[in-house]
Amino acid sequence: MCGIFAVVNDNSDNAAQTVLKGLKKLEYRGYDSWGIAVKPADKPALQVDKHIGKIGDANTDLPKGKIAIGHTRWATHGGVTDQNAHPHLDCNGRIAVIHNGIVENYRDLKDKLMKKGHRFSSQTDTETVAHLIENKKNSLKEAVFSTFNELTGSNAIGVLDYQSETVIAARNGSPLVVGFDKKNSQYFLGSDVPAFLKYTNRVYFLKDGEGVTISKAGVNLYDLYSGKRKEFTPQVLNWKLEDAEKSGYPHFLLKEIHEQKNTISGTASLNLNELKQVADLIRKKYKVVLTGCGTASYCALAGKYYLSNVGVESQTYPANEIMPFVRFIDKKTLFIAVSQSGETADTLIAVKAAKTRGAKTVALVNARGSTLERLTDIVLPVGAGPEIAVVSTKAFTAQLATLYLLSKALQGKISQAKQKLRKLQGEIKKLFTPIAIKHLIAIAKSLLDEEHIYLIGKHSNYPASLEFALKIKETSYLHAEPFAAGELKHGVITLIQKDTPCFILASNDESKEEVLSSASQLKARGGRIIGIAPFEAEEFDEVIKTPDLGDLTIFPNIIVGQLLGYYLGIGRGADPDKPRNLAKSVTVK
Ligand code: GLU
Repeated sequence: MCGIFAVVNDNSDNAAQTVLKGLKKLEYRGYDSWGIAVKPADKPALQVDKHIGKIGDANTDLPKGKIAIGHTRWATHGGVTDQNAHPHLDCNGRIAVIHNGIVENYRDLKDKLMKKGHRFSSQTDTETVAHLIENKKNSLKEAVFSTFNELTGSNAIGVLDYQSETVIAARNGSPLVVGFDKKNSQYFLGSDVPAFLKYTNRVYFLKDGEGVTISKAGVNLYDLYSGKRKEFTPQVLNWKLEDAEKSGYPHFLLKEIHEQKNTISGTASLNLNELKQVADLIRKKYKVVLTGCGTASYCALAGKYYLSNVGVESQTYPANEIMPFVRFIDKKTLFIAVSQSGETADTLIAVKAAKTRGAKTVALVNARGSTLERLTDIVLPVGAGPEIAVVSTKAFTAQLATLYLLSKALQGKISQAKQKLRKLQGEIKKLFTPIAIKHLIAIAKSLLDEEHIYLIGKHSNYPASLEFALKIKETSYLHAEPFAAGELKHGVITLIQKDTPCFILASNDESKEEVLSSASQLKARGGRIIGIAPFEAEEFDEVIKTPDLGDLTIFPNIIVGQLLGYYLGIGRGADPDKPRNLAKSVTVK
């Protein structure tokens, strides 16, 4: 949930500035506070600069040096204060520790360390790690690894030792990746690749139970439990620097929404063999369970409708609520986990539980090299490219396209499905014309001072309305509540008063008449009815027309929600790339 970044043997001799720039690329991972520790070129010591607030516009006057470590925090233990910002030092100031995750047993460890005389200067769980390392008698590498093995929970740590000018890191459950700029003999450690993509695309993603030492002499990989050295081969990613830049857009969110003009059909040419493999398992009567959190869980739910359209029954559960139902998972279960990052703690826990029940597991992921990829039997990477904005957009539509392809693979119609996705790709461009955007902005302006808006959808437009509403909530902090259209008359309708904004998500399908009938019930109570649909209707006071794409109409319907959320967010003064209290990949339970 935080951003970790370190540089070793910095070529510019200004490691603190390199770390500052790298952390700015990771701000989407946490923005309660930031901090950097550097070993100054002319001093045998560590110097630290740390502050609350976002790193976006921050500067640091830390001195020059070749090695530094930094962190952007998403607080879990201890308030958002300067003292609680990472890095944390041991009593002697030899090491600086940064951490992603939660040390679940930190209270016990801290009590013991305090009894031994260690002085704590923060309320975080992380500081315990620094003192625990200090307390060990063995070599620093061994001390870091054995400390790490004592921690419970999902964690990744980075430790800078100024004496040996080494960064030592370890992971178990939270992401860490090493970058190799061999040409310049400089090395990086990050929680995600964009932090150092400017310097290198040669990377090694650490696996759970692995640790590294990084010094100017090079990088060594270890098994954390045996302490033995491991061979490894870095991989070269085909990510381009532009993928991690705003490329002229004011925000990553807007850039990523626009990228959907290409990403969906890009997805359609991936994973064809794997999709057939998954389809074969379903034909062999594996029962399908889909899971995910937030946007990914709505994607899973939309997938359930697609599967039902081709006669396949499936179950969906939010990963964070799956435990009571794990008992129904068995060897004949196909367990499909949807996640942008592949690091979502709740989803990983769900997959681990499914594996212990013997299920076949499938990952539907966007980021590469994730824990989820390694845990699962079949991986379907959706190839939307780095998604930097905290709010998921292009990863969602790429994942949904993949579930659509899966449903069509079950009918042996994958080529037709690819064609339909290509057509969709052409059609959604219409949502981005200057006239269409002007219309959307006018609607966004008319909603700026609202406190509540409601949305209804039926059948596949029901998960679409859940996702639409989530985009509005995440990006503009406006209370947007979605309902299945049929639920209205069972209570929800009490909320509707004169001029209450009500969005009706619809497609030109068998659900059209019923959803329009629900719209007229809302209208009769004075609601302001805004249709998101490929048709006009007398029930609508206004309509945002979307292309008529049959069972794919939910794609443009949702993209309207993404755009509306973005413009509402701008109008309401929110930060579209970094909404308050959120972080990109939720690596804590
Ligand atoms: N648990 C640590 C803290 O609250 C780390 C949180 C994070 O991953 O940013 O400081």
